[in-house]
Amino acid sequence: MNKTVLSFLAHPDDAEFICAGTLIRLRDLGWSVHIASATAGDCGTTVHDRWQISSIRTGEGAKAASLIGATYHCLGEDDIFVTYDKPALRKAVDLFRTVTPSLVFTHPRLDYHMDHEMVSLLARAASFGFGAPNVTTVPLNPASAIPHLYYCDPIEGIDPLGNPVMPTTVVDISAQMQKKTEMLACHASQREWLRAHHGTDEYLDSMRTWSAKRGKLIGVAAAEGFVQHRGHSYPHNDLLAEILGAKTSGFDAVGN
Ligand SMILES: [Zn+2]
Repeated sequence: MNKTVLSFLAHPDDAEFICAGTLIRLRDLGWSVHIASATAGDCGTTVHDRWQISSIRTGEGAKAASLIGATYHCLGEDDIFVTYDKPALRKAVDLFRTVTPSLVFTHPRLDYHMDHEMVSLLARAASFGFGAPNVTTVPLNPASAIPHLYYCDPIEGIDPLGNPVMPTTVVDISAQMQKKTEMLACHASQREWLRAHHGTDEYLDSMRTWSAKRGKLIGVAAAEGFVQHRGHSYPHNDLLAEILGAKTSGFDAVGN
């Protein structure tokens, strides 16, 4: 099997909030891990210009990825302006063509930030199309196939109308929390800004709190939740259940 996983999310620190624990587990099973952000996070600052902060934040993303031997990619789209259009989709297709993922994590279709929603569409379209020979001039890897596609939790586990979103698949990441926290802490520019603004370590605390909340669903210390895309032609078997023992039913919603 082609053991290559791609996390394709909007901003340089998104993976460290919503799927890094699962990426670490896959890495430990010998998977090749790629972490991609659509933007360089050019609006995530109150003190730098967009070029300075883009350089800082892509450096932080690459550093976090390096902690688990992963490769970081950035498509160079602009914060707030990510759009499902031809140029962005071409970039996404070329990324997929280069990486040849058999497993993809992206944002849910509905989330608080429109950049997240647009990346969700880009990831879905690229997953379906990247293996078509004529879609791009980037060489086609014979291992290319429509990957298993999973949507990560929306931020705070709610859709834009405030409705809770229940996962189909929950991965125990209790043993990966320390490394996941180290990865998130690499995003020092974001952590320091929030720490100064809130007076607490809100950046790391919010990730820990959310991971613990998902853990309660399956009776463990920390977890990450996913919803599998099961449209026509996408793989329907729950790969995360098969290879990581992820829980797919019996969630303790009361504990949530
Ligand atoms: Zn984001």
